[in-house]
Amino acid sequence: MKREGVLYIISAPSGAGKTTLCKEIIDIFPHLRHSVSYTTRQPRAGEVHGKDYYFISMDEFRSMVDKGEFAEWAEVHGNCYGTSIRTLEECRITGIDLILDIDIQGARQLKERYEGGVYIFILPPSYEELRRRLNGRSSDSDEVISRRIDAAAGEIRESRWYDYIIVNDQFSRAVEELKSVVVAERCRTFRVLETVTERFDMG
Ligand code: ADP
Ligand code: 5GP
Repeated sequence: MKREGVLYIISAPSGAGKTTLCKEIIDIFPHLRHSVSYTTRQPRAGEVHGKDYYFISMDEFRSMVDKGEFAEWAEVHGNCYGTSIRTLEECRITGIDLILDIDIQGARQLKERYEGGVYIFILPPSYEELRRRLNGRSSDSDEVISRRIDAAAGEIRESRWYDYIIVNDQFSRAVEELKSVVVAERCRTFRVLETVTERFDMG
């Protein structure tokens, strides 16, 4: 059934497991794509330009901001990140569903500007487990980890205005919950009504 693509906006405090969950869900659903953001941060080992992010300079980023090319953008942990309007337009026109792994500031901007997005917040089971996961990932220094833990309380408070909260305690259960949200949202009346009206001549 033809319809516009759904935007799933997913936020979480760093270390909650958002990246791992997003990868899993994209592997499960062929109609889902990861929205590739622009960033001024340096690529990490293994990250690919155009697949994980578009890695650009601060000058290029500023130029895109000035030209109004971003649907949202924010400074996160000292680097700039943004989602281009063109990426969202392609999703709308082609009917492909997009997962936007973005921070709370960006999610709020999209909520104010666009209708129909699905806002999902991923929570860790506890602060202790969040710290354990950040340590276990071993990609950040102790100082960076402490800063991320300090930021978590404020971020978690923002979960109240999201449409769904998923606690990533047991990974397989969190995946099941995320799958359920994706499936249910595709059936929302306002997304399919136009096609149903045409198909069944509902006038
Ligand atoms: P985020 O993208 O939210 O910063 P990651 O997806 O990188 O977080 O996950 C942080 C770490 O926690 C990774 O090492 C990941 O393998 C691990 N992790 C993710 N989900 C779980 C889970 N449910 N139980 C235990 N460890 C997890
Ligand atoms: P990382 O550098 O670890 O890949 O991402 C750091 C943070 O930036 C994460 O919280 C991630 O969700 C956020 N982020 C990634 N892309 C975007 C984006 O396009 N816009 C906004 N606002 N945040 C983003």
